[in-house]
Amino acid sequence: MLTYDSVATEPEQLRFYIFLGLVAYGWWLLAIALSVRPPWLDRLVGLPSIYGLHGMLGFLAIYAAYEHSENSYSPSQLARDLGDWGFYGALTVLSYSVFFMSGWLTDRSRLLLSVKRMLEKVFRHQLSVWIHRMNLVIVAMIWLHAHLLLRVNQHLSFMMLFDLYTVVVLGVYAWKKWIAPDTYLTGTVIGNEARGGSTRKVSVAVDGTATKLQPGDSLFLRFEGASAVSKEWHPFSVTDDSQKTLAFTISQHGDYTRRLGRVEPGAVVRLEGPFGRFESIVQSRKPDAPLVLLGMGAGVAPLLSLIAAHHTTRHIHLLWAVRKPEDAYYREEREKYQAASEGRLRVTTNIGRFRRDDLANSLSAEEVEKGEFFIVGPNPAVLANRCLLRCIGVGIRRIHDERLTM
Ligand SMILES: Cc1cc2nc3c(=O)[nH]c(=O)nc-3n(C[C@H](O)[C@H](O)[C@H](O)COP(=O)(O)OP(=O)(O)OC[C@H]3O[C@@H](n4cnc5c(N)ncnc54)[C@H](O)[C@@H]3O)c2cc1C
Repeated sequence: MLTYDSVATEPEQLRFYIFLGLVAYGWWLLAIALSVRPPWLDRLVGLPSIYGLHGMLGFLAIYAAYEHSENSYSPSQLARDLGDWGFYGALTVLSYSVFFMSGWLTDRSRLLLSVKRMLEKVFRHQLSVWIHRMNLVIVAMIWLHAHLLLRVNQHLSFMMLFDLYTVVVLGVYAWKKWIAPDTYLTGTVIGNEARGGSTRKVSVAVDGTATKLQPGDSLFLRFEGASAVSKEWHPFSVTDDSQKTLAFTISQHGDYTRRLGRVEPGAVVRLEGPFGRFESIVQSRKPDAPLVLLGMGAGVAPLLSLIAAHHTTRHIHLLWAVRKPEDAYYREEREKYQAASEGRLRVTTNIGRFRRDDLANSLSAEEVEKGEFFIVGPNPAVLANRCLLRCIGVGIRRIHDERLTM
């Protein structure tokens, strides 16, 4: 904007609306840059914040683009058309993504969640990902739109900067999609067992050591070769603190996860990550604060990983909500940690969700007053449990969560 401002000769009011167009374009580029989920940024603020900002930038850019298109004009018909198609395309993709991908609406309304689940029989997650990628075509249209405008394209310094930003961001995106995966950690499936009614424990021996992996982290997995499952990236959390053999606890509720039973030992896996902030939060809080871990279903995975790392040094209370008694798997592991913890680890298992009274009765006064709470499960359940904890007096700064959908 500063570069354009220094060279442009337009009246101030028109210049302002051109700035809004640049703001929208800049925010779309930034949203694309964030979509590559840089691991260093994840360690700093966490994946949910990265995706939250990614969504907000897309949302706010629409408003800037609307003001720009309503209040500026262009003699070139093609430039006008490209601008209009870009705007309506972005609005359509945004509305679609808010409903199917963000959880902003569906996590807060049961009705909308049921509608989404019904529609997902056709608009499957992978199709949504492709529809979301239409944003790249929209950015290309806006790029061409700017190049066709005489009042913009006559300024060489500005156009060079405009192109440089575009090429850098699209270059980073292309590198991340096609080149970076070759540099990721790889591993081999060494075990794939059923746990409970609809969950699997998939063990992966990594080639080397996952030195950056911390307790509670998650990784995106892709099964390579002529595998029994499609080559999509799906995120799963580690279930213990080993950096050599990674155990994933995977709940089978969708197209992809249901097919995971067909993955044979020996299958090669590529792993992107690790991601997560649970361990850095644990390390940054008082060492005598009890850790209260609240897991729903397979959400217990990262919590067991935290337990593996801290059961001999911290007071820990694991609260685990499962659907059916047979879903309370990992009994051996829990008993092993409890025996080694010398009374520091307490486990409360519940069939069905924890209600307010269950939580109030299970938690000690010290846990409510001083505990650091970690909740992991499906988004609506996490939101509901956050509310319950707030109601019984747990401070918001002591509640941390990981939501198992994006
Ligand atoms: C950080 C993180 C850690 C996770 N850890 C675990 C874990 O340890 N165990 C476990 O069972 N589940 C975990 N999940 C959830 C798991 O990734 C999804 O349930 C799984 O990818 C759904 O795939 P599906 O095709 O079987 O389900 P579908 O029926 O296709 O999708 C169900 C929902 O899952 C979400 N989803 C689908 N595909 C993806 C994807 N590629 N990336 C993100 N979300 C997706 C969508 O919101 C969709 O509405 C985690 C999710 C996140 C974000």
